[in-house]
Amino acid sequence: MIETKKVIVIGAGIAGLTSAAILSKLGLSVTLIEAHKQSGGCAGTFKRNGYIFDVGATQVAGLESDGIHSKIFKFLQIETPDASILDPSCIVDLNDGCRPVHIWYESSKWISERKKQFPGSERFWALCNLIHQSNWKFANNEPVMPIRNYWDFLQFINALNPQNLLTGFLLKSSMFDLLKICGLDKDQRLIKFLNLQLKLYSQENVYNTAALYGCTVLQMSQRPHGLWHLKDSMQALSSALEESLKRTNAKILFNQKVKLLEYNSQKKLWEIDSLKGDKVNKYYAHDVIYSPPPQGLLNLLVDKKDNYLQYQNRLNNLPEPSGALVFYSALKKENMRNIISNHYQFISEEFGSLFISLSEEGDGRAPSGEITLIASIFTKTQEWFDLEKDQYNFKKNQYFNKISKAIEEKFNISPEDWLHRELSTPRAFERWTNRPRGIVGGLGQNPEIFGLFGLSSRTPFKGLWLCGDSIYPGEGTAGVTQSALMVSKQVLASRGINNFNL
Ligand SMILES: Cc1cc2nc3c(=O)[nH]c(=O)nc-3n(C[C@H](O)[C@H](O)[C@H](O)COP(=O)(O)OP(=O)(O)OC[C@H]3O[C@@H](n4cnc5c(N)ncnc54)[C@H](O)[C@@H]3O)c2cc1C
Repeated sequence: MIETKKVIVIGAGIAGLTSAAILSKLGLSVTLIEAHKQSGGCAGTFKRNGYIFDVGATQVAGLESDGIHSKIFKFLQIETPDASILDPSCIVDLNDGCRPVHIWYESSKWISERKKQFPGSERFWALCNLIHQSNWKFANNEPVMPIRNYWDFLQFINALNPQNLLTGFLLKSSMFDLLKICGLDKDQRLIKFLNLQLKLYSQENVYNTAALYGCTVLQMSQRPHGLWHLKDSMQALSSALEESLKRTNAKILFNQKVKLLEYNSQKKLWEIDSLKGDKVNKYYAHDVIYSPPPQGLLNLLVDKKDNYLQYQNRLNNLPEPSGALVFYSALKKENMRNIISNHYQFISEEFGSLFISLSEEGDGRAPSGEITLIASIFTKTQEWFDLEKDQYNFKKNQYFNKISKAIEEKFNISPEDWLHRELSTPRAFERWTNRPRGIVGGLGQNPEIFGLFGLSSRTPFKGLWLCGDSIYPGEGTAGVTQSALMVSKQVLASRGINNFNL
């Protein structure tokens, strides 16, 4: 017998796990299908030579007591994983001979750091703070964006506060527009710093990051928010969500890749074909939540009628997201001298920016006396796919050596100090995370695609929903958790349950 009200969630990254856990906790019959042998996706881990490496995400926002992850864990009645606050959250070296910028957790320390590093910029930071306060109240009221129907509209209107009406006029502005307003558009050092930081969180530079998005990501390191380092590994986040799914009897099916989605109009159900080895498994569901990047969705849809062409056009015209090159390594702690932060970012002529994440001794990622070092840079995905095997290996090796050298120079490490080194390219990301062409981090948060102008979690196909880092409010484990909450509320509302709030 087919369970007619079943929900199938595709993808056990943080977005898929969270939406599955919320709906299952509320009593819906949920099955989560994951292509990989484990959960976590870009926020997962892998083991190598006795080390545990975080695949992508290394720091977490939203773990403070009223942060989005904590609120979800509280709702699920699951313990929040152990984590420590990052202070400083990052040390940013602009390679201009000046002292690197320390992004402190305590606001007072951060303000005095800013004053020394970027004299005359306080007006800009005050404006960012004002905009952020208004954004934050709005986000906490759980708005739905973009608006696609009356219910979405009501959620949006109910989330608005009077301040939003003032900041609303910045909807189409960029961070650079804010600098102009503050008379700081010629401050090259500040622009350099903002370019580095914004690229990490919005995939765009200061000229293209939406002001309403950029202001909030720039405030994430400070109290009352903060960025966190998870004990053991990033997998702790997914394991906690999996635990909730187990407690509520949701099914998690690993090693099954969804290949086809077809709406059966007679049964009024979605038919889902997933491949496990050579075997095709068929599932039926009233609602399907698709959490991987939407760029892969069209290949799965069998029914190409009705709204398909228009939607195809919409998805095909999404801006191409970045790929990442990630260097996973390990060293003796004694060989990393003068380290006072888990994260470093520095300008590199070769790569633009290099973002470094270090484990802490005893945090479960490396044996005693050793630490892991993960370095990432952005890359265009296409560069890695249009290559013959030899060309690919050559290029990969070149980058491996260049990244090694850049880190050796920066941290005064000698080549013999490496205990482990490997590099992953967008090809590996495609294999590991099943993201098309290894694209990472969702859509660039520019004014054309942010918030109201983004991709909706409602698709034109009844009962087929999206969540994840291409959907409001964007990337990061906290962002995709917010999108999972939003889509869960929409699914519930479509079933007449309108009173669910965290
Ligand atoms: C190098 C790098 C560094 C990052 N650093 C940070 C950071 O420090 N902090 C932070 O918060 N964020 C960071 N991010 C971003 C963050 O990791 C992602 O935004 C977030 O984890 C995405 O979660 P998701 O659930 O939307 O997607 P994913 O993690 O991509 O999960 C999607 C899941 O769907 C599965 N799947 C795909 N297709 C199918 C299919 N057909 N059938 C079944 N399953 C399928 C995949 O296997 C995967 O498990 C980083 C990302 C990268 C790549």
